[in-house]
Amino acid sequence: MRRSAMISLVFFVLFQKFGNTVQAQTIKAVSSAETGRKTKKLVMVALDGMRWQEIFGGVDSSLMNDPLYTKERKDMQKHFWSADAGERRKKLLPFFWSTVAVKGQLYGNRDLGNFVNVANPYHFTYPGFSETLTGNPDSAVNSNRLVANKNANVFEFINRQPGYAGKVAAFTTSDLFPYLLNKWRNGLIVNSDQDSLPYPDPSFRLLNEMQSLSAKPTGERPDLLTYFAGREYLKAYHPKVLYIALGETDAFAHDGSYDQYIGVTHAEDGMIADLWNLLQSMPEYKDQTTMILTCDHGRGSRIKKDWTDHGVDIPESGEIWIAVIGPDSSPKGEVGTRMQLWQGQLAATMAAFLGMSYQPAGQRVLPVAESILH
Ligand SMILES: [Zn+2]
Repeated sequence: MRRSAMISLVFFVLFQKFGNTVQAQTIKAVSSAETGRKTKKLVMVALDGMRWQEIFGGVDSSLMNDPLYTKERKDMQKHFWSADAGERRKKLLPFFWSTVAVKGQLYGNRDLGNFVNVANPYHFTYPGFSETLTGNPDSAVNSNRLVANKNANVFEFINRQPGYAGKVAAFTTSDLFPYLLNKWRNGLIVNSDQDSLPYPDPSFRLLNEMQSLSAKPTGERPDLLTYFAGREYLKAYHPKVLYIALGETDAFAHDGSYDQYIGVTHAEDGMIADLWNLLQSMPEYKDQTTMILTCDHGRGSRIKKDWTDHGVDIPESGEIWIAVIGPDSSPKGEVGTRMQLWQGQLAATMAAFLGMSYQPAGQRVLPVAESILH
């Protein structure tokens, strides 16, 4: 067994063994006045299947130079290549490396001993996003079938708190999310894939027309439209929690198209920058919003061709990353200390940012990631 796979397995077994004790250690509910935190709004953006290798290392030369994966090598070289890894990642992800790295925190550079993993053993979309949002790496959540999630999730928990009802909204490219978040149980606003936008403002009518006329090369709504749907909703309705889950990174990687995967990664860094700049320009959000960026799973890397794929058979596809920027997360930048975070910790951590304790009855939940809150 590979070393990293062994480490993951040991942590997973430890978690399975002791995970149940987590719930017993109920975290006391505290007000934001007591915690001294400034966060009043939360935004999460997820990039499906985006590898930590490119987040921290920029484009991979072995994939860029392989005509099987990269059709326009010269273009990629011109826009994204530098022999210097620091420069290279900045070219690919200017917002991550010029803003988050300066004002926020980035976790998951395994070359520095900083580990972020999924705790679920499956390494694909539904289990990954379910772990993120429910806090529970439930072994019964083991397929991408469109079935309603039995686990409670942190968004419905927040939506039930005084002042938050109807103020939590999700915009997603994948049609898994209405099921994953079980919107029929909790009435969350979840707009996914081919859903139209039932809002009167002209910008939504335009987006509906664009959606009906756009090509869907990945079989789903283009990420750009998912992003604009979320952005325009934020401008018009001021949600307290906004979730945007994008899917093209995963879709293009499965296609084996490194050009497209890299191109969309760069474009989505630009959308995240646009969103952050918008948040900082609105008095309802400025200096009181925490934005968390993450993914649902990693992809292969040890065997070159495995970069296109992920799953149980590719142990390193359980390796992920987390980035955060906001008024309560000190500017640690790229975190290089040896530590282990788990995907499922994000659920309780999101609640903790808002001074809430997420502990659904009868459900195991991973503990708050304290490092992110400080
Ligand atoms: Zn996938």
